Amino acid sequence: MLQTVVRLKKGREKPVVSGHPWVFSGAVEGIEPEGAEPGAACRVLAADGSFLANGYFNPRSQIVCRLVSRSEAETWSEGLVAQRVAEAIRLRERLLPPETDCIRLVNSEGDGLPGVVVDRYGSGVVVELNTAGADRLRGAVTESLERTLAGPSFIYENSAGPARGLEHLPEVKQALAGAAPDRVIITESGHRFLVDPAHGQKTGFYLDQRENRRLAAGWTRPGCSALNLFAYTGAFSVYLAAAGAGRVVSVDSSERACALAVENLTLNGLSPEAHPVLCEDAFEYLHNNSGPFDIIVVDPPPLARRSAHVQKAARAYKDVNRLAIAAAAHGGVILTFSCSAHVDPRLFGQIVFSAALEAGRRVRILARLGAGPDHPVSIFHPEGEYLKGLLLEVD
Ligand code: SAH
Repeated sequence: MLQTVVRLKKGREKPVVSGHPWVFSGAVEGIEPEGAEPGAACRVLAADGSFLANGYFNPRSQIVCRLVSRSEAETWSEGLVAQRVAEAIRLRERLLPPETDCIRLVNSEGDGLPGVVVDRYGSGVVVELNTAGADRLRGAVTESLERTLAGPSFIYENSAGPARGLEHLPEVKQALAGAAPDRVIITESGHRFLVDPAHGQKTGFYLDQRENRRLAAGWTRPGCSALNLFAYTGAFSVYLAAAGAGRVVSVDSSERACALAVENLTLNGLSPEAHPVLCEDAFEYLHNNSGPFDIIVVDPPPLARRSAHVQKAARAYKDVNRLAIAAAAHGGVILTFSCSAHVDPRLFGQIVFSAALEAGRRVRILARLGAGPDHPVSIFHPEGEYLKGLLLEVD
């Protein structure tokens, strides 16, 4: 079968030569043959016909090609998936933190497997296939996980995020091996959490915040008051309450998430009466409650899902940070995050700067935060560094 060839416009090869794994539609001169199926392997050529990289393509996406190798011999194939899954899992064997049975096993471009995300929850795994190329090699992903992990108790696919829409793919939720799990109990840093892979957000749990939850626990003083905004299933709250906070208020607008947060507190022997979980809008909550809180976590959803939304998102990030800074006790700390890939660390710093200025408080940066090492980022792919955060002290 003739392999699909994507030829770039003259002068548009630079990002590919510099290792960036995406080709945008504006850089493409032509695709041959016509009618090739989305997700199929492709070769990317410069305008002069010279070979640049191998990848897979989707003419329906803004990102027409995702690249997997600069070597002519390495193509998007079952063999490559098997090799990269095995490499990804080998790295995680060196990373599993103490008293933890959950970890990100495959992190998309960061593991050379664009569109493939795999999270391990205890003895099972949950997979997200976010692109046409990933979708096409579902069988290879499943087989390599079964082989490398020596038979996980289940492999469940939850491919339902907004990324699939951008690729013109339907939502898929199904068991790929074993029975579809109901709810799974995982252990992270010695704390137990209920995860609902079929109904939860993403794969069910935000593993990317593990190191920051540990950090937050380290800043907790006995009896202190804490506020966890955009709490999801209360993971930060459990760490804070277990570390001795006197009262942790969790706020999230999702009823399902709040119900699980209450269960997670109970599961860890913590009282939901002492640590209230409020199902409401975080902005509203801050407008009506001014604290003071000794520790505040601000972890909103990606407020900018597209670059066109950045300005509006910047305003929302500024508002929530201004209100959080105003609600901080003197000497209080805030862990504030953005998980929008379109808001880069510099812009995020500027947003928090404006928030501090408007709040009229003295604010210092104690640390810059990101996802843990099980979320590796290719140095050639800055967009992979979607989670950024600041640890602030408020005077
Ligand atoms: N910090 C969490 C993850 C947060 S994900 C953890 O460590 O697990 C973002 C959360 O924000 C989601 O649970 C979503 O339901 C919630 N959310 C979105 N918009 C909201 C709003 N306006 N007010 C409160 N919560 C909101």
